[in-house]
Amino acid sequence: MIIILRPDVTQKEITQVIQRVEHYGAQVHLSQGRERTIVGVIGDVRVINQDEFMLMPFVDRVLLVSRPYKRASREFSAQNTVVSMDGIKFGTDEIVIIAGPCSVESRVQMLETAHAVREAGATVLRGGAFKPRTSPYAFQGLGEEGLEILAEARAATGLAIVTEVVSPDQVDLIAKYTDMFQIGARNMQNYPLLHKVGESQLPVLLKRGLSASINEFLLAAEYILSHDNPRVVLCERGIRTFETATRNTTDINAIPVLKERTHLPVILDPSHSTGHWQYVNAIARAAVAAGADGLIVEVHHKPEEALSDGGQSLKPERFAEMVTQVRAIAEVMGRSLSTKSISNED
Ligand code: PEP
Ligand code: MN
Repeated sequence: MIIILRPDVTQKEITQVIQRVEHYGAQVHLSQGRERTIVGVIGDVRVINQDEFMLMPFVDRVLLVSRPYKRASREFSAQNTVVSMDGIKFGTDEIVIIAGPCSVESRVQMLETAHAVREAGATVLRGGAFKPRTSPYAFQGLGEEGLEILAEARAATGLAIVTEVVSPDQVDLIAKYTDMFQIGARNMQNYPLLHKVGESQLPVLLKRGLSASINEFLLAAEYILSHDNPRVVLCERGIRTFETATRNTTDINAIPVLKERTHLPVILDPSHSTGHWQYVNAIARAAVAAGADGLIVEVHHKPEEALSDGGQSLKPERFAEMVTQVRAIAEVMGRSLSTKSISNED
């Protein structure tokens, strides 16, 4: 249930609404925008007498949220949520570019790639130290050594770090190194993991599950938000369809649909959604044209030697070309590319 208050509501009246909501055993999520104040009600709304609120003179409207997700829903927050980390902001007019290899493989690989993507315009560095590989025999990541390499690359370049966490018992360790957790597609419905990163209060990049509907995706986000961790960035990374020409099918529709249904920032991963480096640039441009708030792109200084996802990784010079083209699309859309990094935060 959502209670929209009149623009001239006083603080005392807001408190009165909150107290009455809590009287019914429900929780309040308050969103105070410049134009209006919205009281989101979470809990069993069946026990609430809605008329009581409709009759309050400072209440404009009472809406019932039909969507199963509440905190993630567009109705719940008057403004777009801006997820900040060290001066880098997702969900503004500035588009954030995340880039780096699929996996952290070595110091040399990571540092070379980090400097190259920074030079080209990325402000966040990706790289998996714990990899959720489809095959148990494939490279599983360097573990904590990989996290140390990421920290070194962060210090050397001023790029913020996003890295994947695959199990709840890694959350505390990874939190010591990373600026943002990545929850991979295979773990989108790993509920203990969603709870644990929610508790951590660090920003979370939540990737859409391989066969997850948008509804399921937003319900997964709701798990994190339910811990009062509003710092969730959604990532469309392609879904499984009958088509085999590409690794996945980019659901470009998901961008405007998500932007309509939720206030959370939405980014796109053109690398996993296509699976072939040749298509990455085109889909990155399409994502920005469709309204994405950012991109996460796999880049490797020697893709032919990569231990994972080499075939979909861009070489640094191709990545630089992609950034130039994406910047042009962003400008057409009245947006720009974020240039903030952790070393020049405002
Ligand atoms: C990745 O980002 O390297 C990855 C494993 O992605 P996804 O979870 O989307 O498959
Ligand atoms: Mn990958």
